[in-house]
Amino acid sequence: WTSEMAQRVAVNDAAGSKRTARVRVAVRLRPYMDKQDEKSEGPCVRGLGPQTLEIVNWRNATETLQYQFDVFHGEQSTQQEVFLSSVKPIIPHILNGQNASVFAYGPTGAGKTHTMLGSQEQPGVIPRAVREVFHLVRTQVKDQDEWEFSVGMSYLEIYNEKVLDLLSPNSQDLPIREDKDKNIIIPGLTHTSLSSFSDFHTHFVPASLNRTTASTKLNQRSSRSHAILLIKVVKCQRVPPHRQQTGKLYLVDLAGSEDNRRTGNQGIRLKESGAINLSLFTLSKVVDCLNTGTGGRVPYRDSKLTRLLQDSLGGSAHSVMITNIAPEYKYYFDTFTALNFAAKSKQIINRPFVRETVMPPTNAAGKRSREEQDAGGSVE
Ligand code: ADP
Ligand code: MG
Repeated sequence: WTSEMAQRVAVNDAAGSKRTARVRVAVRLRPYMDKQDEKSEGPCVRGLGPQTLEIVNWRNATETLQYQFDVFHGEQSTQQEVFLSSVKPIIPHILNGQNASVFAYGPTGAGKTHTMLGSQEQPGVIPRAVREVFHLVRTQVKDQDEWEFSVGMSYLEIYNEKVLDLLSPNSQDLPIREDKDKNIIIPGLTHTSLSSFSDFHTHFVPASLNRTTASTKLNQRSSRSHAILLIKVVKCQRVPPHRQQTGKLYLVDLAGSEDNRRTGNQGIRLKESGAINLSLFTLSKVVDCLNTGTGGRVPYRDSKLTRLLQDSLGGSAHSVMITNIAPEYKYYFDTFTALNFAAKSKQIINRPFVRETVMPPTNAAGKRSREEQDAGGSVE
């Protein structure tokens, strides 16, 4: 049975490594916000199940496009649900010297900051993840005293392909390097030790407010830059041989994925868009490369963002992309683009999304529109 066992282990290993190299893709649809929609056209996208949604096909009103993902979080989903299903399971790995990354992708206004940061009343992924890190560290320290843990944070921004330290305002563009063990490091980046969640709160909140207030003055810079929070957990053995393991968790609120060329941005903004497009475009190539597993070189080095995430995206790291989308028509093309980046698969279905309730009442169409109404999605 030994060889059979060995074989099984090998198979599991292969499946396991394949699985870990993949980037899990979740999609979150935010609630419809009436105020944003002067024409009251209703939503153009809606959920169908725990992994699927459909969107109007603008090319052909008799069709919808159905997409499938690893997880779909509907408009009713809570911050807690998103955290539990998409983020909590990866946190234990960073206490074992492994790396992980969670990033929010999608057009400006679709809910990236809500998902990552949230509010006092509805805290998002970042505060929940940091709480969980401290919770796990405390539990492990209680259970066995062979290891000692230290937790620290860095907070940076990539803007116009420049790496800026958000814990040290006025800092210059920082270099990204790789050490001999292929760990990505940023010499000169502020690293702040944290002893508790409230410690984190003390350092993070002012830095994050800084970024948002600066943004309104500087042409909504926050929608054009990538905000990257790094939580590092170092685990040291108290006794010889004093082994040491470092785990990194990147929590990233990406720049808006909207196509700025369409909205007619000029000059500096166009230049910014170009730089953002380079990082986001490269990210989409990297994720695609990892998820289709076509082999070949993963183009990490083609942008600052992907270079920075190189040791924490794909490979042995645990990565989740939460694609945020909005249901209003004015986001249609940006939603469509974001879904095409995120989708595991897409299917064209012959079934009108919007106008069907005004179609001639043939039996079949009449029955279908009732089902549509029951599903809560029929819109006129
Ligand atoms: P982004 O960071 O992608 O530009 P925001 O997170 O700022 O988008 O969201 C835009 C607006 O929508 C904000 O007012 C935010 O509070 C609200 N919002 C986003 N997602 C949700 C949600 N799931 N539930 C309730 N409100 C949301
Ligand atoms: Mg935002």
